[in-house]
Parts: sequence; structure tokens; C-alpha cells
Amino acid sequence: MVAQQRTPAPDFDAIVIGAGMSGLFQLHRLRGLGMKVRVFEAGTGVGGTWYWNRYPGARFDSESYSYGYSFSKELLEEWDWTEHFSPQPETLRYLNHVADKFDLRRDIQLRSRVAAAHWHEETRSWLVTLEDGSSATARFLITAIGPLSAPTMPRVEGVESFKGQSCHTARWPHEPVNFEGKRIAVIGTGATGVQTIQEVAKTAKSLTVFQRTPNWCAPLHNGKIDKAEMSAIRESYPDIFRRCQETFACFLHTADPRATFDVTAEEREAFFEKLYGERGFGIWVGNFNDILTDPKANALISDFVARKIRSRVKDPAVAEKLIPKNHGFGTRRVPLETRYYEVYNQPNVELIDITETPIQRITPTGIATSAREFEFDMIVYATGFDALTGAFDRIDFRGVGGRRLKEKWAEGAETFVGMSVEGFPNLLLLLGPHTALGNIPRSIEYNVEWVTDLLRFMREHGLTRIDATPEGVEAWMKTVLDASVGLLSNEVNSWFTGINTNVEGKQTRRIARYSGSAPAYRARCDEVAAANYREMVLS
Ligand code: NAP
Repeated sequence: MVAQQRTPAPDFDAIVIGAGMSGLFQLHRLRGLGMKVRVFEAGTGVGGTWYWNRYPGARFDSESYSYGYSFSKELLEEWDWTEHFSPQPETLRYLNHVADKFDLRRDIQLRSRVAAAHWHEETRSWLVTLEDGSSATARFLITAIGPLSAPTMPRVEGVESFKGQSCHTARWPHEPVNFEGKRIAVIGTGATGVQTIQEVAKTAKSLTVFQRTPNWCAPLHNGKIDKAEMSAIRESYPDIFRRCQETFACFLHTADPRATFDVTAEEREAFFEKLYGERGFGIWVGNFNDILTDPKANALISDFVARKIRSRVKDPAVAEKLIPKNHGFGTRRVPLETRYYEVYNQPNVELIDITETPIQRITPTGIATSAREFEFDMIVYATGFDALTGAFDRIDFRGVGGRRLKEKWAEGAETFVGMSVEGFPNLLLLLGPHTALGNIPRSIEYNVEWVTDLLRFMREHGLTRIDATPEGVEAWMKTVLDASVGLLSNEVNSWFTGINTNVEGKQTRRIARYSGSAPAYRARCDEVAAANYREMVLS
């Protein structure tokens, strides 16, 4: 197990790609190990998701106090959240505060998009090349590039021809955008589209929503947090984070111990009603324990939410269009909303179901469907991301023998515990495919600590190379597959099942997401570490 390297030392001990929530914390931890680290960040500022997604209405869907970093007591003591679900500007301020507080900026190189990363066996290092052609080497390469960071535009003729303003929600301009007096189109009704639509509808002269698949949305019930409430929250931080460690997906909410048919119809209706009136994801992940696995149970909660939609939307024909017909409640990510359905009662808002009248092309002045030509001042693309693997596909990663990661993953990602890829030594993934997602920062903190412990172990033992084994990957992929068995979400097209109609080759379902519990995920990873990483190849 002992390495004798007589090659020149790499420029850095570690290069981290991305200065979002993962990259910032990873940098802080590696500094703690005394490592020389460089973070390359494509944006002009830190913050990752919260830097890029500055579209109107962007905010948390997890309670703010369950979302922030938990690793620093001092940070918890000094930061006040002002809303139960923090809006994007506040979150970006928070992450900038973190960068300043821990003096992170001096190791972060902004405006630096990584184009390629090639493994060099003789030096046991990664050569990382930026888009501007400059490069640097490092012993370890850590990706902190996010599961939802590669935006995708629709593959529709004429996108470039539009003469008005247009942008993807994840590439929103840094200057304020005024909708007053303007005719706005929004394409897409996922979690992003829903947040955008609610906000744009407030001031736009007209808002036309182009919906392909309606989603089951549920009320967010956001509210302000005053000083007194914040100090009560601060008191309960230990309980909040303990609970997040115990629940299935690290949210404050977790499934009810009862099954749907354990209770009477009246009790069930009252429980659904209670959840519909509560904050956050409770109705999705704190519901009866079988709604996401038993079609009959799922049909009941779907029917409940459909009735809510019908009661909130005045025009019955519009209400029917907004009710999903091809998937049950919670089998795709549930967008949380604030008066989303009421938007469709406004005279300035129109819903176009593009399954009935497909978009044929984007024109210089607007959008042409099979039925009509629309004129717009602005088109907003809330069309989502090439999730989980897209950000990897956009970098030319090459491992042992020059093997391309994109080719290796052509039929679907393969990882060991979501953090290592066989044949790509010393590459460690934060929040890559097959890690526990859920309440993302909780998973980030776990991934970062695991990677940090691994690098500490390697240093203490004079090791300079680590790789996954084919057997380890095979076993982990089986675990991932087994965890997904029986989930209704597996039968449905969404980014959960790796579908993106706008990306060549991503029209078939594949498992890129670990859908078991976060505690089970952590237990498995802890086991690997406790056994001194014997399931991996170290030298
Ligand atoms: P998404 O859920 O993938 O939704 C994309 C939307 O665009 C869908 O309605 C999709 O329709 C539509 N679309 C895509 N291509 C289209 C085309 N060519 N023509 C017409 N419509 C098209 O993406 P997202 O809304 O950006 O959300 C992605 C994820 O980001 C969420 O699931 C969530 O995990 C995360 N997110 C989190 C928050 C938060 O925490 N607060 C907020 C926003 C997003 P189809 O459904 O028919 O494909």
C-alpha cells in the first residue's frame, strides 16, 4: 500500500470545481487539513445554484433553518433567516457571508469554467484545463458541480430568431427585469416555472404559460420570521439538525407511520387537509407511508389535490388542464406554490396546453403553435436541466488510458457510493449521481465530511492514489436499483428517471438517483470508511 512517487509535485493538493454550497464547504474543510486548494468557478460570484437561479420568485422549498450549513455554531449564532423559505437574494447573501467569514475567496478563481480534466497516471494527478486554455494540476479533483446545473433549452426551431428579450431561468440577468406593460411567455411548469409564473403574473401586461405536463403543486405557506421566532429557532438548532439526520430525506418532514388504508375515510381526509394547510413538503414526504408506492393510496391523495385545484381555479376547463393525468401525486418533484392556481383566474393570464396545440417554432416576434401565432416582448424558458449527469457531460473528463467519462456513462452513470468512479482515480464527486439528495445541504455536508476523512486517511498513510473497484461499483449499483424497486416515480418521466427530451440520448429512463433513505446511505458510506476504504483500491 505504500507509494513511492519521484515525480514533480502537482500545483495543488486538490482542485475543486464549483463554488456553490458544496465547493465552499469542501474548500473550508480541505484548508483544515492544511491542503493547498484551488476552486474554479464559472460564475462571476460564489453561490452556485443560488448564484445562477436568480429568476423572479426563486426561493427555498425546504425550511430555511433546515437548509443552512450546520457545521459552524458561530455561523448558526450570527445568521438570521427572515423567511421560513428564504428567497434567492437572501440565500445568495448568506453564501457570500460564508465565503467572507471563512476567508474562502482567496482560493477561488471566478470566471473560470473547466473545459477538461485528464488523469495522468505517471504523476498521479489531474490536469485541469479551463475554457480560456489555462491549466493547473492537482493530486485530487473534486467535483462540486451540482445535480441541477446544466440548463437545457427546448429543441424548437427558431429559438435564436426571437428579437425580444429571452432567457433560461438559470441564466437570469443580473439586472432587474421589469415585466410591467410587457407581454411575457413562460415555457415550462416544473418547480422553477411555478415560482416564476406566480411572480411574473403580478405585474405583466399579459402572461402566457406554455404547459406540456402539469405538475401536482402544493401550498408552500411561507411566512416571515421575526426576531423572537428566530431566537426560538436558534435555540432548537440541535433538535432541527438531529431530526434532519433521522428522517428519510433529511427534511424536517418524514413519512407518517400509518398506511393510507389504516384509517377511516374521514380520518384520511382530515389528515390530507391538515397537511395541505402546513408548511413545506409535509404533504409529499410526511404523508401516509404508502402514497409513493401503492397505486390505490396514491390515487386517493391525487384525488384530494385534484379537488383542491378544481376549487381554486374558477374556469373548470382550465382546472382540468392543470390536473396531471399521466402521473400520480408526488411521483415527480412536487412544486411548492403560493397562490399559483389563483394566477389562472387573473384576466392577464392564459394557459396554453401544448399537448393540444404544440409549439411549432419560435418566431422573431413570439411563438407559433399549431393553432395560433403569439407575440411577446419576452420569452422565459423554465425548461429545466440535464440533471445529475449533464454537468459531467459538459466537461471532458478522461480517466485511466484516456477513457472518456461521457462514454463510460453513455448508458447511465455508474459510481461507487455516488462519490467515486472506477477508472477515474482521485476523482471525488460531491452530490454526484447515486448520492442521497433530499434536503440537499444535509447531503452536501455528509459528502464533504466523507471526502475530507478519506483524504486525511490517505495523507496519514502516505497514499496518493484511490480508485473504486468494478465489484464495489456493481454492488453499489445493485443497492441503488434495489432501493428504487416499487417506487411509483420509476414509472414516470422526469429528471428523477433521467429523462430530458431536450438532450440527445436521454429519452429512456435510467436510475441516476439513489432513492433509498439518507440514513441508509450514510450507514453504507460510514461502513466503507470504518473498514479503512478496503473496498476501494489505495496505493
Ligand atoms: P423541470 O422540473 O425539469 O421542469 C421543466 C419544465 O419545462 C417541465 O414543465 C417540462 O415539461 C418543460 N419543458 C422542458 N422542455 C420543454 C419543451 N421542449 N417544450 C415545452 N416544455 C418543455 O425543471 P425545473 O422546474 O427547473 O426544476 C428542476 C428541479 O430543480 C426541481 O425538480 C427541483 O428539484 C429543483 N428546484 C428547486 C427549487 C427549490 O428548492 N425551491 C426551485 C426550483 C427548482 P415536461 O414535464 O413535459 O417535460
